[in-house]
Amino acid sequence: MMSAFLPAVFPLSCAVQNYSWGKVGLESEVAKLLASSDPLVQIQPDRPYAELWMGAHPRGDAVIQDNRIPQKTLGQWITDNPACLGAKVKDTFQGCLPFLFKVLSVNTALSIQAHPNKELAAKLHAQFPEHYPDANHKPEMAIALTPFEGLCGFRPVEEIISFLQAADGKDTSGSNGDLLLRLHSQYPGDIGCFTIYFLNLVRLEPGEAMFLGANEPHAYLHGDCVECMACSDNTVRAGLTPKFIDVLTLCEMLNYTPAPSSSKIFPATQSQLDPSVYLYDPPVPDFAIMRIEIPSSIKLYLVSAMDSASILLVIQGTAVGTSTAAASEMTLRRGSVLFISANESISLHLSSLDGMLLFRACCLL
Ligand SMILES: [Zn+2]
Repeated sequence: MMSAFLPAVFPLSCAVQNYSWGKVGLESEVAKLLASSDPLVQIQPDRPYAELWMGAHPRGDAVIQDNRIPQKTLGQWITDNPACLGAKVKDTFQGCLPFLFKVLSVNTALSIQAHPNKELAAKLHAQFPEHYPDANHKPEMAIALTPFEGLCGFRPVEEIISFLQAADGKDTSGSNGDLLLRLHSQYPGDIGCFTIYFLNLVRLEPGEAMFLGANEPHAYLHGDCVECMACSDNTVRAGLTPKFIDVLTLCEMLNYTPAPSSSKIFPATQSQLDPSVYLYDPPVPDFAIMRIEIPSSIKLYLVSAMDSASILLVIQGTAVGTSTAAASEMTLRRGSVLFISANESISLHLSSLDGMLLFRACCLL
């Protein structure tokens, strides 16, 4: 008997998290992407749309939009078809997709936090599983979709001293008074508001990225971004949160090396082989992100095969996608998300006049 054709490239319907810090209604990039990808989705004007999860995490496993596939979710499909990850990824990460890809729409600040390295993560998880649910590290990278504001790493010492010297003055123009008041209105009485004088305020323009390695103190303050992270939930919090704060662990683990805010912007490199691709390749094995900018002059574009599974998100533009690994044509528009198995490619027949902007999360080993 001939075995039936099973697609290895397919569209996903992704989980939304309505955390209270998210941008509300159609202010939110998450909501805009949802509404564009599926006209049947009703966006509620007063509800926060904080995160879109594009991956196989058990608390937000993406639903497969292809009724020829018997498995309902991406996680179930990967469990039954681990070869889709690519041989190296499958062996290195025990048959699991090593990353979670997200879109975030931040209205009010997230908690000031740091993530332990692998060694500390395993130790904290063994000692306090109620606070540290995973044994894995959690490096993260954020790439701005709209002007994005965050805190990252300790400021140069001179800057901290100058803030302390100006603190009893009347003129607050040079001391982030507006930001202090904004954070204090979001978290009244929270001492974490003062971390803006110790940590770098980083402002990213669309396409600029911030990498948050182990032990780096950080907080997202405002804006929309795509984010990729290793699969883990381990967060040590320092403030701007009603959740558990582990001061002792935090003080022990933090990276205190001072550095200017400009050094916190993570560079992307343009691909030599394909000038449409800009690669953000952080110093961790778990994930990398590509920004693919297809100019309007290109009408047929090949999303190339890799030896890793990947997830593709359309931010701008429309195309019809064809692949030998997909039985039928796929319509791609703003908000569409595709899972691409290792060693599979997709041809995009562009139908928009102004090119396309895509992000692709993958694993480079
Ligand atoms: Zn974080």
